[in-house]
Amino acid sequence: MLFDYAGRQLAVDETVRYTNRLGASLTEILFIVEANRVANSFSLETLFLEGGTPNYELNGHRLTVFLPQPLAPGESVSLSMRYRLAIPPKHIDHPHGYLGYQVNLTDWYPFIAPYENGWVLHDPPVYGEHLVYDSADFEVNLQVNDENVTVAAPAPEEPNGEWTRYRLYGARTFVFSASDRFVMSESAVGSVVIRSYYFSWNEGAGIGMLDTAVRAVGLFDVKFAPYPYESLSVVVTDLTDGKEYDGLVFLASEFYNSYGGSARSEMVSIGVHEIAHQWWFGLVGNDQALEPWLDEAMCVYSERLYYEYIYPNYGDWWWNYRVYHYSPSGWVDTSVYEAGGFLPYVNSAYMNGAVFLEEMRVQMGDEDFFAFLKDYATRFSHDRATGGDFFTVARENTDANINYLIGTYFKGGE
Ligand SMILES: [Zn+2]
Repeated sequence: MLFDYAGRQLAVDETVRYTNRLGASLTEILFIVEANRVANSFSLETLFLEGGTPNYELNGHRLTVFLPQPLAPGESVSLSMRYRLAIPPKHIDHPHGYLGYQVNLTDWYPFIAPYENGWVLHDPPVYGEHLVYDSADFEVNLQVNDENVTVAAPAPEEPNGEWTRYRLYGARTFVFSASDRFVMSESAVGSVVIRSYYFSWNEGAGIGMLDTAVRAVGLFDVKFAPYPYESLSVVVTDLTDGKEYDGLVFLASEFYNSYGGSARSEMVSIGVHEIAHQWWFGLVGNDQALEPWLDEAMCVYSERLYYEYIYPNYGDWWWNYRVYHYSPSGWVDTSVYEAGGFLPYVNSAYMNGAVFLEEMRVQMGDEDFFAFLKDYATRFSHDRATGGDFFTVARENTDANINYLIGTYFKGGE
C-alpha cells in the first residue's frame, strides 16, 4: 500500500482469504466499503477471484461479489483487488479523514461482512455505531512518501524490504494515523508495547495518557483476559469524544487541552473507556447496532473498576461525575435506532448499563462476578457474544438469582 501523505491518497493492493465457516454453501460474498459512502473517495480498479474476474456490483457501501461456483462449507477462496482512495477532509464527529497536520484512516479497506442468517450490514444510525465485524488476521505493508511522517499503528512495525510491515492477528479492524508533527512516548506492560501519540503543545497530557494506558492495560489484563494484541497506541485527534479500534484508540484533543494533571478528568475516564474496548469490542465482539450495551455498558463499568482499583481514595467521585451527572434510565438493551436521541441512548445503554452491572455484581458477590468476567472474556475471545450468551455465562458462574435484574433493566428479557 502506497500512502501519499501530502496528496492525501492511498493506492492499495488488497488480498482477502475467506473461509466459509457456515453450515451452507455461499453463492456470493458481501464486502462492506465504508469509504464509498463518501462521493469520489473510493475507486476500484480491478477485482480478481482466484485469478479470474467474477461478476460484482458496487452499490454505495455494498460490494457484492458473485462466485462462479458455490463456496462449500470449510472451503476457502482468495479475492484480490486494486483500488485508490482519495482521503476526505475529516469531520469532527468521526476520526476518518485528513486535517492540516494529521491523517486518520479507519474502515478504509473493503472487508467481508459477518454472516448470521444473512450478511450483517446495518444502516448507519444518527448516533452510535453500526458496523459488526468478524475477527481476522491482518498484514499491512506500507510505504509513505514522506520521511518526516510518523505513523501511529495498531501493531509494532517491522522492516520488510522496501515496506514497513504491520501484523495484527485476531482483530476486527486495522486503522492508523499519520502526522508530520507527532510526538510519541512509549512504555510497556510486560511484553505489550504502549504508545501515546500527541502534539508538542499537549506534552503533559500525552505523558499522562501513557501512564493511564499502562495502568489500565495492567489492570484489565488481570481482571478480564490477557491483552489481545502486541501493542496499544493512544492517539490524539480532533474529535468530540473517544473512538475505539483494535490496538489503537483515538481521543479528543479537547480532553488533552483540559487535562490539568489529575485523573479526575475526561481524558483519563474516557481514555480508560476506549482502552477497555480492547476487551469489550476487540476480543469479545458484539452487534454494536442492535446490542450496543454489550460493549458500551461493560466499558463504562470498566472505568468504574479502574478508579476503584487505581484511585481507591476517590470515593464516589467517578459515579457522580460519569454516571449520576447524566440520568441513568431506560432499557439497557436499547438499539442505536430506538433510543430516541443521543442522550437517551447514552442514559440507557451506557449509564443505566453501568448501574445494572453494579447491581449484578452486588447480587453475585465479587468472587462470582469477577470469575464471570474472565469466563465470558475467554469463552467469546475472537468471537461475538449476544445478551443471551452474557446471561448464560453469568448463571454458570453464580447461584445468585439475577432474574429480577433482567426484568428491571431489559425490555426484551433475554
Ligand atoms: Zn464506548
